[in-house]
Amino acid sequence: MIPSSLNYHKAGSVEEALDLLEKYGDDAKLLAGGHSLIPVLKLRLNDTEHLIDIGKIPELKEIKEESGNIVIGAGVTHGAIVESDLIKEKLPIFSEGADLIGDVQVRNFGTIGGSIAHADPASDWPAMMLAVDATMHIQSKPGKGSGNEKREVKAEDFFMGLFTTDLAEDEILTAISIPIPPAGTKNTYVKFMQPASRFSVVGCAAMITRNNGKCENVRLAFSGASAKPYRAKGAESILEGADYNDENIAAAIEKVTEGVSVLSDHFATEEYRAHLAKVYAKRALKALN
Ligand SMILES: Cc1cc2nc3c(=O)[nH]c(=O)nc-3n(C[C@H](O)[C@H](O)[C@H](O)COP(=O)(O)OP(=O)(O)OC[C@H]3O[C@@H](n4cnc5c(N)ncnc54)[C@H](O)[C@@H]3O)c2cc1C
Repeated sequence: MIPSSLNYHKAGSVEEALDLLEKYGDDAKLLAGGHSLIPVLKLRLNDTEHLIDIGKIPELKEIKEESGNIVIGAGVTHGAIVESDLIKEKLPIFSEGADLIGDVQVRNFGTIGGSIAHADPASDWPAMMLAVDATMHIQSKPGKGSGNEKREVKAEDFFMGLFTTDLAEDEILTAISIPIPPAGTKNTYVKFMQPASRFSVVGCAAMITRNNGKCENVRLAFSGASAKPYRAKGAESILEGADYNDENIAAAIEKVTEGVSVLSDHFATEEYRAHLAKVYAKRALKALN
């Protein structure tokens, strides 16, 4: 299928993209890697008159270390994250997680910002964003969007539901910043993938800092299990301040879907997904040994 005819605009900077968004308003959509938006347009699940291509804006393509944070431009591809030495060294969970996304073509076109803005419940980045306590950096024209030209939103507040985030139509996600985890921290991302697309049926991101054998800063987050990514706070609280051992991990994984409305679809029933959440939480936590 091909999308209905539309006008293509290539933005050279964030300011230019914001000008175009203001000019075309509700008739425009941002295009990053196109690996979620183009299929949606081809299937006519959405329609737009103007595509504003932000895929080649240099300022959205940077990965850098700044004031104790890793800052990743929204336009960085999943593949560039896999290849980044800085990420491999300081945030291995992102190297591992990005490498599990789709296939080579998807990783070379799809962007971290596009994935986060799209907020597909089966996408991988949202669980990782919650686990590493990421902050989203958002920009709009003065007086537009939330009323601020630049604002920051914690991952915890950013993901609001099925394909729904805190982003307004006239805002651009420009970057994601992640505090560099303290010494003694281990983190990982594992998933049970849909065999054809490799989207997560259930994905689990885990992070623990070990201090004198005790677990600190425990974060356990899920994609795919529910309409909205979430942290399993009941499970986290069992491990927080406790010894890292099989008994405590077994008690924690019993809580991973507590209070959560687990999804059910033709890939996996609610019961099976809840089971997968336990299995993958156990694998993630054990990998932090
Ligand atoms: C075959 C296939 C397999 C896939 N497998 C996986 C997988 O295993 N795991 C996974 O997580 N994902 C998977 N994906 C999705 C892929 O990662 C997409 O690239 C990603 O979800 C969207 O990123 P994009 O850059 O392509 O965004 P686009 O498709 O260009 O845009 C998506 C949406 O986000 C908006 N947007 C884009 N950038 C911004 C921004 N900076 N600010 C505000 N809004 C913005 C667009 O307007 C659009 O509404 C797969 C996709 C395909 C086609």
